[in-house]
Amino acid sequence: MRVLVLGAGFGGLELSSRLSEELGDAAEVVLVDRAEGFVFGFSKLDVMFGRTTADHVLHPYRDLVKPGVRFVPAAITAIDPAAKRVETDAGTFEADVLVVALGADLHPEATPGLVEAGHEFYSVPGAFAARRVLEEFPGGRVVVGVTSTPFKCPPAPSETALLVHDLLVERGLREQSEVALVMPLGAPIPPSPAASEAVLAAFAERGIEWHPETLVRALDPERRVAVLADGGEMPFDLFLGVPTHRVPRVVAESGLCVDGWVPVDPLTLETAHPDVYAVGDVTSVGTPKAGVFAEGQAAVVAERIVERHRAAGDAAATYDGTGVCYLELGRDEVARVEVTFRTGERPAGRFEAASTALGTDKAEFGSSRVRRWFGREWAAH
Ligand SMILES: Cc1cc2nc3c(=O)[nH]c(=O)nc-3n(C[C@H](O)[C@H](O)[C@H](O)COP(=O)(O)OP(=O)(O)OC[C@H]3O[C@@H](n4cnc5c(N)ncnc54)[C@H](O)[C@@H]3O)c2cc1C
Repeated sequence: MRVLVLGAGFGGLELSSRLSEELGDAAEVVLVDRAEGFVFGFSKLDVMFGRTTADHVLHPYRDLVKPGVRFVPAAITAIDPAAKRVETDAGTFEADVLVVALGADLHPEATPGLVEAGHEFYSVPGAFAARRVLEEFPGGRVVVGVTSTPFKCPPAPSETALLVHDLLVERGLREQSEVALVMPLGAPIPPSPAASEAVLAAFAERGIEWHPETLVRALDPERRVAVLADGGEMPFDLFLGVPTHRVPRVVAESGLCVDGWVPVDPLTLETAHPDVYAVGDVTSVGTPKAGVFAEGQAAVVAERIVERHRAAGDAAATYDGTGVCYLELGRDEVARVEVTFRTGERPAGRFEAASTALGTDKAEFGSSRVRRWFGREWAAH
């Protein structure tokens, strides 16, 4: 069976690793990505806040050696889901099963003034460049702001505000500075009131301003103010922004999207086309856009492909919407939230309060993925 996996991020790496483990050379898996390597979302913050280096957090795809998996470094230029045929700048590929795991693209240019007057920190180059900006910042008013919904890793802007606080304390600049966070959500971690309470308590203790239920619509580069969706304005000396997210253009042009994202069956992750699946940030499956959910969805798709390959009748594996999220609260403390999202039900979360021990768990979360996906040892920092 030929399986074509588009995108080697959280979803694509997990899927191809599982297929290799289960089927080895019996599968013919082609994994396509245009990037040089994989970078965890949390590593972006680690580099930005000077805890590690850019080289250390890049996991090059050339190190990917998995039985039955061929990695193709290429840009995908067209997807025909009906024919399960894909065009790339390295040729055309056809498959029996197609999995779209192309994530969300970022568009800082969609927010007027963001490119000129602010710094987006969600892309790999953006986060790496923000490190210098933070190192050279002389102190003043910092605004961390979300510019549109949906956006990846909903806790990340809160973590960023807390880490900005720590950095300013460390650099002796906190007293002459202010830190504010603008978020479209009503609570920092909506599915877990306990986690939200802990984050809000940390904001209050550190004097971080919290502006919920609004967005930054534009920056005015001349007046250096952020213009909010609710009509308010916030002056800034340093603006750190979460840019607009959209499916990659090639996905938008494939006809797979409804209202901007790829709808899938929430249990099977199958799109409207038989044997065409989509996992992770590219979908509108109803979980937050986070790596752990992309990974969980990929595991289910892998199981379904394996079941089918072994001709074990109809594939039975289904997705349960569960994921674990580690939350950086600053001061080297990490909390943990386990959340389950099921269609038609209120999401339920279980919260473990911040500790340095959970920091070790988070590090192992990253190391175990690198071991499984790239077959080598790695410590986040
Ligand atoms: C600051 C920050 C912190 C985060 N922290 C966490 C965290 O702690 N925990 C967590 O679970 N999640 C976290 N996330 C979110 C996480 O990074 C994403 O949700 C996750 O990577 C999504 O996985 P995915 O497989 O859907 O897409 P991605 O991992 O984005 O992978 C998509 C892949 O497709 C490739 N691609 C796209 N278009 C093309 C094309 N045309 N041709 C070829 N290749 C293409 C890209 O190069 C990319 O490798 C964080 C995100 C950010 C920004």
